[in-house]
Amino acid sequence: MYNLVADYHTHTLYSHGRGTILENVEAARNRSLKAIAISDHGFNHLVFGISKSKLRKMKKEISTLNHQFSDIKVLLGVEANIISLDGEIDIPDSYLEAFDIILMGFHKIVRPAGWNDFCKLFVKNGLDKLGLTNREQLRQSNTTAIVKAMERYPIRILTHPGESIDIDTRSVAQAAAKHNVALEINASHGFMTVEYAKIALEEGALISINSDAHSPRDIGNFKRGEKIAKLAGIPSTRIINTEEYMCLK
Ligand SMILES: [Zn+2]
Ligand SMILES: [Zn+2]
Repeated sequence: MYNLVADYHTHTLYSHGRGTILENVEAARNRSLKAIAISDHGFNHLVFGISKSKLRKMKKEISTLNHQFSDIKVLLGVEANIISLDGEIDIPDSYLEAFDIILMGFHKIVRPAGWNDFCKLFVKNGLDKLGLTNREQLRQSNTTAIVKAMERYPIRILTHPGESIDIDTRSVAQAAAKHNVALEINASHGFMTVEYAKIALEEGALISINSDAHSPRDIGNFKRGEKIAKLAGIPSTRIINTEEYMCLK
């Protein structure tokens, strides 16, 4: 369908993936990918967050692999968590430089920045499914939080936008286009829908199709995401992990 040559969203044993960094990289090489990002969960994820003390080890492993293999570029990434209504993410400024690529998404089991953020960002989104919230208000504060994060940080990819958090897709897509953030079509979650992808296209946002693999065998499995992108009519030059886009850069 598309000539996808990079998988920017993969997990390893450093969070809750099943493979090592090496195993993920080998799987990517077997699929003839030219780039892979190791993007385990940010520090504040209560169960699967990477620990700051392991960062140096991860960096070293990745640097060794980049020396060892000339056919693939391995990036140290992170799937950061949004932790405040003000758009704060769980990567302190002093750590931002440690990563080659920063992804950001909303996850539920995360230590928030403060009490108000806990109530409005985590409890309310949890109650939303039960119909116990003012939906419109919640959507607005969610959208503002995500837009602010894109303004504040060098985020490259917004992962599974809309999952577990109701957002105004058009506003998020406009901000993404402005700040050069790619909206992810996540091949394992199935977010976003064709409708959302069309809105992203209309607003000029870039797209990234990723596997979100939690096991080496799923690395580079983009099928479900590709289907959504095709149905939405996204051209390959708008997808940051196609060969066409990467050649243009
Ligand atoms: Zn995620
Ligand atoms: Zn993930």
